[in-house]
Amino acid sequence: MGTSKPHPATVAVHAGRGRRVDAAPLNPPIVAASNFYGGDYAREEGSPAWEPLEEAVGELEGGTAVAFASGMAASTAIVETLPAGATVVGPAAGYAWTRSLLHERAAKGRLVLHEVDTTDTAATLAAGRHADLLWLESPSNPLIEITELDRICEQLREDRVKVAVDSTFATPLLQSPLAMGADFSVHSATKFIGGHSDLMLGLVGARAEADVRELRHVRAQLGATPGSLEAFLALRGLRTLPVRLDVAQHNAMELAHRLSEHPAVSVVHYPGLASDPGHERAARFMSGFGAMLSFELDGTPEDADALCRRVEVFTHAKSLGGVESLIDRRARYAGSSAPDTLLRISVGCEHVSDLWADLSTALTGSSSR
Ligand SMILES: *Cc1c(COP(=O)(O)O)cnc(C)c1O
Repeated sequence: MGTSKPHPATVAVHAGRGRRVDAAPLNPPIVAASNFYGGDYAREEGSPAWEPLEEAVGELEGGTAVAFASGMAASTAIVETLPAGATVVGPAAGYAWTRSLLHERAAKGRLVLHEVDTTDTAATLAAGRHADLLWLESPSNPLIEITELDRICEQLREDRVKVAVDSTFATPLLQSPLAMGADFSVHSATKFIGGHSDLMLGLVGARAEADVRELRHVRAQLGATPGSLEAFLALRGLRTLPVRLDVAQHNAMELAHRLSEHPAVSVVHYPGLASDPGHERAARFMSGFGAMLSFELDGTPEDADALCRRVEVFTHAKSLGGVESLIDRRARYAGSSAPDTLLRISVGCEHVSDLWADLSTALTGSSSR
């Protein structure tokens, strides 16, 4: 590979394979083992079942990665490292289970929670400055909003405030929270890293040795270890992430443009559109706009639900990040019960002409109601 720093796409294909010794398999094998000669125990000391995945993602993230049983196990582990009564500043909109994790712990008096619109940089810095942990999610669920990660992480690093970034929608390929100054970079590998809707796994990238040690300790204590097959599949998924993401992002851009010109669509949320409020930010510190978009239908929530039932190439399902395109109606703000017409799309790797044909047929049905 020479001495020049390899491109992340190359790292994704090569990292975590171990030394090239004769007769060794190219891929780290599935390791089904709880205990090891010499006294090591998988939950406590770790396991070669998931260490190659951690090595590969750590290299991509520019830090050390710790693998967990799911994305939520990863997020919970970070919160678990906080002392009782810690002040957390969290996002007013974002992944619902992360928000309920913070809310429920605050309700039980374990931490003090302040919520802020993290797309408002000044407000986020003002609140974050006095926190023990600032939790960010960008691009965010479900409005695909972009938080100014570069400015916020850099400033709070100077202020010595811990920052965690849920970078699931960006994947380790499109942005580098640790390089921008974050302490933790969180991924639900269930989504794009796995990429085939067939596993659950989470990863945290961290820079400081002390943070890594603590995350591993919490993982051991919570018993939140990943499964062997899941870790094998996640690493296998990572190998093709660069090409899957290339296709999916290209498809997403095309769909976003076409949707924004459709009479039945009132607004499209996709940072790749020049008109999107997050466009300039994303262009500044992301190397791509990602494969998640959402749009609002000019109609009723029932129209939006009916559209989900009409699609035939898209799948009406929860979750995201797989090779197959998914569509689902989401509450505009997680936790809000207001009925609305926000439809979230996880763009996959089908041919974009089939995706658009499917969507435009389903949209036509909705505008002729
Ligand atoms: C899915 C998801 C999670 C949680 O991950 P699981 O693997 O389902 O536990 C966290 N954050 C975001 C942004 C997600 O999309």
